[in-house]
Amino acid sequence: MRQLREVRLQSKAIKDITNGYPLILKDAIEPSTSEMDEGSLLHLVDKNGGYIATGYYGMQNKGIGWVLTRKEKEQIDKKFFAKKISEAVAKRANLYTSEDTTAFRVFNGEGDGIGGLTIDFFNGFYMVSWYSEGIYSFKEDIYQALDEVVNTRGVYEKLRFHTNGQYVRQDDYVSGEKGEFPLIILENKMKYAVDLNDGAMTGIFLDQRNVRKALHDHSNGKTVLNTFSYTGAFSVAAALGGSLGTTSVDLAKRSLPKTIEQFQVNDINHESQDIKVMNVFDYFSYAARHQLKFDIVVLDPPSFARTKKMTFSTAKDYPKLLKDALDITNEGGTIIASTNNASFNMKKFKTFIDKAFKEKNTHYKIIEEYQLPEDFTVPHNFPEFNYLKVVIIKVMN
Ligand code: SAH
Repeated sequence: MRQLREVRLQSKAIKDITNGYPLILKDAIEPSTSEMDEGSLLHLVDKNGGYIATGYYGMQNKGIGWVLTRKEKEQIDKKFFAKKISEAVAKRANLYTSEDTTAFRVFNGEGDGIGGLTIDFFNGFYMVSWYSEGIYSFKEDIYQALDEVVNTRGVYEKLRFHTNGQYVRQDDYVSGEKGEFPLIILENKMKYAVDLNDGAMTGIFLDQRNVRKALHDHSNGKTVLNTFSYTGAFSVAAALGGSLGTTSVDLAKRSLPKTIEQFQVNDINHESQDIKVMNVFDYFSYAARHQLKFDIVVLDPPSFARTKKMTFSTAKDYPKLLKDALDITNEGGTIIASTNNASFNMKKFKTFIDKAFKEKNTHYKIIEEYQLPEDFTVPHNFPEFNYLKVVIIKVMN
């Protein structure tokens, strides 16, 4: 049986949650929650026992759970989940009918009213990602609700929480048709190969759709360096946009066959493109030694990276990364600087950019800015959940 717990909120948290803040922070509640089961329903109350909201208990980063409703009578059941999912689906009507794009986010966690749960659409298949054991405990109702609301060709899932330090299991198939991978999806007419049953990731980060389009549109006649390139999705966009040549750099050995595959599915001869399995920071020295410079440099590092030799944290080292990139960017060139680190906002990110260019005595102009695309819904009035920040910078001299 699911536990139902009455939990008293601190007064600061009462204000935030009443105003729509969806996350139940660790220090928002009293007394301690050590005795609670993941997936317990939380009746959040003020000090007089007055109802504030209903949530669930699920440990995830800085929160202990998420608010589900502010209506005391609303039951958290299959009907509730079906309503949330169908509202989310309705918001993506344009993407569902698009012929140019067949992969997008259908349900974006807290932005669609259920923190800890995301659902992505990949050409008929659905990928459900669960971010805590707590939300995963609702899986039966949620899968049934999903089936009621949409026609699923097949369903896969990712468990993005740890039990005893391990992802819970390997095979991610849930129901319906088994996919044949790579599955080809379209994004603004560009093709991408994805695999829904191959480890933690699928081969494409859907939140960068608008940035890939922007790069595509800037690339004609340009040389492009794609750092932290993963499966080379940005390189493919540049090549399809008419780039004179792309260079993709990633440390992971798998990035080589994966990037070749992305080029192949778009009928681009991968041998005409440069793919380097290499530490980006070593590549900067390599490029300097060989006097290589690029018209466009894409920077999309992970928030944290640790190699044997060094650690990199975007919050600390982004200015240095930009300065290194500037050294190998042609005059009049463009840097696309991206980060998904949720711990700082766009304003702060721009201070990193300003610092780097000042230290290099170089003028610049920000020509475009991107945050999450419209299918990655963010809770109203809480921009801190809009973790993606991308700035397209023109290097002036
Ligand atoms: N830009 C990619 C996503 C990057 S994910 C895209 O849009 O698809 C981060 C990537 O950085 C991972 O593939 C990881 O292997 C790579 N990486 C992490 N540290 C690195 C380093 N020091 N040098 C090169 N690649 C690195």
